Amino acid sequence: MLKLYNSLTRHVEDFKPIHPLQVGMYTCGPTVYSFAHIGNFRTYTAADILLRVLEYNGYDVKYIMNLTDVGHLTGDNLGDADLGEDRMEKAARKEGKTAWEVAEFYSEVFIEDFKKLNLQEPLRFAKATDHIKEQIDLVKRLEEKGFTYATTDGIYFDTSKFPKYGELSNLDEIKAGARVEINPEKRNQRDFALWKFSPAGEKRQMEWKSPWEKGFPGWHIECSAMSMKYLGETFDIHTGGTDLRETHHPNEIAQAEAVTGKKFVNYWMHSAFILINGERMSKSKGNLYTVYDLEQENYDVLALRYLYLQTHYRQEMNFTYPALDAAQNAYKKLVLEISRWEDSPFDSPLRSDSSEDSIGQQGFAGQAGQVPASVFKDYEDRFLKAINDDLNMPMALAVVWELVKSDYPNSAKAKSLFKMDRVLGLNLQDLSLQLKKLQGVVPGHIQQLVEERQKLRKERRFNAADQIRAQIKKLGYDIEDTKKGIKVTKK
Ligand code: AMP
Ligand code: ZN
Repeated sequence: MLKLYNSLTRHVEDFKPIHPLQVGMYTCGPTVYSFAHIGNFRTYTAADILLRVLEYNGYDVKYIMNLTDVGHLTGDNLGDADLGEDRMEKAARKEGKTAWEVAEFYSEVFIEDFKKLNLQEPLRFAKATDHIKEQIDLVKRLEEKGFTYATTDGIYFDTSKFPKYGELSNLDEIKAGARVEINPEKRNQRDFALWKFSPAGEKRQMEWKSPWEKGFPGWHIECSAMSMKYLGETFDIHTGGTDLRETHHPNEIAQAEAVTGKKFVNYWMHSAFILINGERMSKSKGNLYTVYDLEQENYDVLALRYLYLQTHYRQEMNFTYPALDAAQNAYKKLVLEISRWEDSPFDSPLRSDSSEDSIGQQGFAGQAGQVPASVFKDYEDRFLKAINDDLNMPMALAVVWELVKSDYPNSAKAKSLFKMDRVLGLNLQDLSLQLKKLQGVVPGHIQQLVEERQKLRKERRFNAADQIRAQIKKLGYDIEDTKKGIKVTKK
């Protein structure tokens, strides 16, 4: 039985979906006004692990993620999401682009990084600007039911009309004084904007006509409108980073439940932050790293995924380069180990070159050999128990290593391992096969030079690295840095 921690009840609970075989799941995506950082991606990876665990348990998951491409105001950093400038328009001014171009550019980069981390794509990346009508309709329904009021700058949700407001959050812990500016027109401090009016005399790049004044949606309304559109008025799981639990998610609940009178979401899941020197990694603090930064330092993006897997999603994680190095080493060791398995699942003859055309297409025809099925059932059961225990990935990784190091026939080990990798998402089959082929065609002394060159590049000794590359060439091999790793071919 899958057990998940539900932030709403503050307990680990048995997961019971609304439909026996299908799960509706929504994750709050990025605001696409700059690059997402590896803190953000920790949260999306946690959602990806959940998605994969659900699928591993046999559920068909309908997964939606939004892209906030409008209306997220800079006042949010100060504790008030309804004040300040529109982040998209601010970025546009800074970059000399239109707000639409900014949104498109950062959405594309986000999706590229998303794929590099092997995150399974949702059925839809739902953009706020593609769903203005749905958002206006929801505000209209809230207005008809008496949950709204107008101020000079917008239409607001009156939280005093929704007695359950804030049940998800630990809002009492937020001190009133923490808010720098307080909008004097708000009836209650926690009221929030549903629709913001374009400032008088100002032409915004992103603005729409509405039953009220011309303007743009408040930050929270898109998630209620789009999740209900695609997943129904009540759905199973909603995820996001831990900060969203305090304001954004309670606001989503208020908007949805005030209109429908039904429970909005059954399970709320929140993942903890990545920290740098004990402080939250964030755009506003500027203490961040992106996927691109790590690639520039020659890290494999999937080593970052491995690093994420080493900490439970509800535990904070301090990011350091030594920790990433250790994760990368462990990950490489894992792939190398599998690639050396002789009676492995890829026992087709090695090819005479290292072309990639068959990678990923070869199944594993391994037989369980002499090992009783129960041995593997034991590993697989323990793996399943770990992932089903509120996604205990550190424990799952420990089972994986135990299996890898065991003395059982490799073909059988590989069979179980590649099954487990459906959850880990570490591309173990493709990469070990790739490496195996490489080992088969590249003699040891060339391989050694390749590794030496890698080490020099990591130390940023590029001239020395280039000299080794030339030496490799002289010895009759071409070396190429590809997205999937280093490719060495005989000339
Ligand atoms: P944002 O683009 O700031 O709206 O954040 C997108 C997602 O990343 C949200 O779910 C945040 O809760 C999450 N997030 C932001 N900062 C961090 C961090 N340092 N560590 C983990 N998740 C984060
Ligand atoms: Zn959201």
